Amino acid sequence: MEKNSFIRKTSGRGRPYESVLDTIGNTPSIRLNSLPPAHVELYVKAEFFNPAGSVKDRLAVSIIEEAERSGALRQGQTIVEATSGNTGIGLAMVCAAKGYPFVATMPTTVSIERRRLMRFYGARVVLTPKKDKALGSYKKAVELSESNGWFLASQFETSANALIHQRTTAREIVADFEGKRLDYWVTGYGTGGTLTGVARLLRKERPETKIILSEPDKAELLGSGETQLRSAAGQPQESHPAFQPHMIQGWTPDFIPLVLQEAIDNGFFDDLVPVCEEESMMCSELLAKREGILTGVSGGATLAVALKLAEEASERSVILCMLPDTGERYLSAPLFDKINTHMNSEERSLSLSTPNFQLLDDE
Ligand code: PMP
Repeated sequence: MEKNSFIRKTSGRGRPYESVLDTIGNTPSIRLNSLPPAHVELYVKAEFFNPAGSVKDRLAVSIIEEAERSGALRQGQTIVEATSGNTGIGLAMVCAAKGYPFVATMPTTVSIERRRLMRFYGARVVLTPKKDKALGSYKKAVELSESNGWFLASQFETSANALIHQRTTAREIVADFEGKRLDYWVTGYGTGGTLTGVARLLRKERPETKIILSEPDKAELLGSGETQLRSAAGQPQESHPAFQPHMIQGWTPDFIPLVLQEAIDNGFFDDLVPVCEEESMMCSELLAKREGILTGVSGGATLAVALKLAEEASERSVILCMLPDTGERYLSAPLFDKINTHMNSEERSLSLSTPNFQLLDDE
């Protein structure tokens, strides 16, 4: 091994922070050094650096602070939202920091870690049946808000969603790649906030950057070309016909959100690539094992698409892909199914290879 003369040092962030909320955003774009082919540069934007571990911290603080500014939210009013998890965890964190009560509605299919995390932050979690899918928990949140006078966060429709990505996520990308090539930016969609907000700015300031969108091959809502039935307020009326349940949590709900519709109407993506969930989980694990970077299934899915793109990309292409959340959010989910908790035979032989501290049976 080559001797390393580099001495790692840090110098602080230059100031103490007034609130956890001020630590949201400014996530790093990190180069991958082992997985991509040698002829490209592939970077990941690691949203798990946000204080509650996902990209949705940005949305959560935006919804609440925009509503405070407009007067739509009263001090101490309860906030309610339908959430596949990360939005709920982000809102629970922001509500805890600002002193608002928070109620999340979510389908029973969402991982246990997510429910427990929200409750740990002091939120209440109302579960809805699996058979009613995301739309069921959405309708429950609307009912609870109407019957109690609560503030509905409306992540799928609110203008505060794409706006925060335009002002923060997109600005960070433009700043980090200033004076550098950026040939491709790869993302998936849940609400579509990341895509729509980032694309608004990239189309203006980096028009040469190709925007690559992905969705699960089991739920090709956009790929099907079928439109979404919506109310006058933009809320979905029924499940999209191309939807099938999939394991890429946080991606592609069973309807096309209004926030995403702006990206469709404005041609905000140059290509649409379906991805399968097995490959997504495999890429998430590879990213941990080969690069030391821990992300969830949607991060693995985005990386799977970026790696395929990298194979075909021309010499010295630069690709950036989004990693929406941390892999720790999936310990009880299929992503970690293959990871054993007991010693395997190799670990057992290691245990037996020296005389002391042996575990005799699988305690
Ligand atoms: N991945 C995960 C794990 C998520 O929770 C979300 C947000 N639902 C996304 C991706 C997609 O982000 P957006 O809502 O901005 O499209």
